[in-house]
Parts: sequence; structure tokens; C-alpha cells
Amino acid sequence: MSRLDAFSRGEVPPPAAPGDPIERVDTPALIVELDAFEANLAAMAAFAARHGVHLTPHFKAHKTPAIAKRQKALGAAGFCVQKVSEAAPLVAAGLTPILVTNELVGDAKIELLCALAARAPMSVCADNATNIAALAAAAAARGVTLAVLVEVDAGSGRCGVAPGQPAADLATLVAAQSHLRFGGIQAYHGKAQHVREVLYRKTMIDQAVVAVRATTAALASAGLACPRVAGGGTGSFFLECASGVYTEIQPGSYALFDRDYSDNEPVTEPGVPQFQNALFVLATVMSATRPEHAVCDAGLKSMSFESGMPRVRGRPGIQYRGPSDEHGVLALLDGAKVAVGDRLHLIPGHVDPTVNLHDWIVATRSGRVEEVWPVVARGMVF
Ligand SMILES: *Cc1c(COP(=O)(O)O)cnc(C)c1O
Repeated sequence: MSRLDAFSRGEVPPPAAPGDPIERVDTPALIVELDAFEANLAAMAAFAARHGVHLTPHFKAHKTPAIAKRQKALGAAGFCVQKVSEAAPLVAAGLTPILVTNELVGDAKIELLCALAARAPMSVCADNATNIAALAAAAAARGVTLAVLVEVDAGSGRCGVAPGQPAADLATLVAAQSHLRFGGIQAYHGKAQHVREVLYRKTMIDQAVVAVRATTAALASAGLACPRVAGGGTGSFFLECASGVYTEIQPGSYALFDRDYSDNEPVTEPGVPQFQNALFVLATVMSATRPEHAVCDAGLKSMSFESGMPRVRGRPGIQYRGPSDEHGVLALLDGAKVAVGDRLHLIPGHVDPTVNLHDWIVATRSGRVEEVWPVVARGMVF
């Protein structure tokens, strides 16, 4: 009833309410299964604690303060964001300190960073002297202090200055600014995360460790202490933890765990947690006019496809073949059957851009809706 009231006011209501059986959830809807999700959160928190490494989960993966709150309750030392705007709801909720794991270029972004730094400890990455000067000027004008981590290219070939002396030179420049503090180094190897073979992933993180060691040595020669070495995602965190040089890991996807990550070769080393798919796009079969073909109501506007097709959970003969805006074409193999009205749990290929398409996450347990979370930072891409 309140759902219809919201529609009559022209508002976007959640697809379900706490207490509803899952059969009542309107589709397409983003579902988190709490048992798997809580196990994922607990496993990562325990692993980081056991290794004496700080866990600063990446907020960009879920953009949902209700999830960040649970991560903090399990011991998260702070949060990472990719865009400075994502930090605003975290600061408002007291979920701090925050590291922006990215370079912020442009007055609008740096002004927002400084405004947030007046309310909470904020760190940011830099790989360029002009950018450091802009950060220093804005922080001085605002009367705040920013911690700046120098980003080194740990092997991904994206952002980041070369390791060693070039990184130490930037750190020296940071340390010379009255309103900046040298916060350490950011050495995230993004490309390694989805490399299928564990051995090959290990080789890549070994290279990141070489880059970190070269940089900490150059910093020491320059007389600078390095308070933080940050990096590590869902595909590699156990390697950074084992390296002895990283002081913190910043995985994000582990909480919800997508199809692409479950296609990675599993790590068999004892003590390394295995994660479970906890995020689903719940879809309804809306048409089934031919024996080997059906259509569901979740397409490009309900999940992202750049990491491949979603997997249909628990229905082995049903393959998601391809999306259009609002439809998903399903192939029915090996005599698999569906009926119009059947509901499917689709495991999306990639967590981050899928979550960013939804206003709400429906949290369920044992077939019942327990909570409905607003995806507060959805659309905060600036
Ligand atoms: C995305 C990202 C992460 C987390 O990656 P996941 O694959 O979601 O675990 C960590 N650090 C940085 C800098 C990132 O951009």
C-alpha cells in the first residue's frame, strides 16, 4: 500500500519492504543474500586482522553506507573511495577516515575535498607536481591539512609515477607544503585482480612489491618516513598481506562477489578465505514463446555486461545470451524449461557498475526481506 502511495506521488519506492517474502519483491531488483554477505565480510576482516594489516574496504564497489557501517563494526580502519563525491555520505555518517585512491584534478573536486577535510581526516593520491601545488594552495586557503599519498605505478600502467626516485621526489615536494602531509604510498595493481591463474597473479604482485621496496628505499634516503603502503583488491589481497611491505589492503568486491571474480582460479593456500556470490539481480521471465527461447525483464539498465554475461543460479540449462535495454534473452539448453512468471537469480558479471544502476538493495535471509538499503552514493561519479 505505501509502495502504491509512493508511485502515486511520483516517487521511486523500494522494490520490497522488510518482512516481505522474496516472492513479493518487484523485479528487476538488486538482492543481497545476508548469510553469504556476512560470511564474506567476516572472512576478510579476520584475515586482515590475523596478518596485522589494516582493512580499508573500497566503498566504490557498493556505494551503500549501510554496508560500510557493517564493515566498520567488523574492524575496518577506514574507507577508500574512488571519487571525492562518494566520500560525502561516508563523512555524514561518521564512517571515516577516508582515502581517495585517485588523483583529483580540477577546482571543484579539490574544493569538495577540502570542505570534507574540515570535518574528517581525508587523504588523497597524487602523481604530479602541478596537482600537488593545487592541493597545497586549496588546503592553505581553506585552513585544512590533507594527507597526500604518492601513487606509484605498481604494474598496471595506468596512473602513478615511476617507483623509486621519481616517487620520492614527489613525496619530498608534498612534505615541503605547509598544509600537506606526506601520507605514504599507494601501490594498487588493478590489472592483477582478474588474472585467472593464482601463480600468474602472484608474479604480478611480486613486481608490485619490488616497486614498493624501491620506493621505500628512496624515501629513506630522502629522510622521509613512509607511514602507509596501501593497495590490494579482492583478487590479490592475500599476496599483499603476505608481502610484509603493505600496511593496508583495500578490497571492495569481496563483500558482494561477482561472477567474474568467481571465475578466478580459487586460492588453495590454507587460511585464505573463499568468498561466495552474495549479489543477484532478481529477474522475472516475461515471455516464453518458443521451446528453446525465453525472455526476462533485466537487461542493460539492470546490470553491467562489460565483464560478460550473468550466470543464472541453480538453473543449469538456462543461459543468459544477451541483453537489450530492458530485456534479457535466455537460451534453454538440454531440454531446460521455464514458465512465464518464473523468477531467476542472475549473478552479475561485475559488482561495481551493476550496483551503480540501482537506487535500492534488498537484503534477504532465508527467503524473506530483512532490510532495504538505499544506494546513497549511486550516481556520485564526480
Ligand atoms: C577498485 C579498487 C580496489 C578494490 O578492487 P576490488 O576488485 O573491488 O576488490 C582497491 N584499490 C583501488 C585503488 C581500486 O581502484
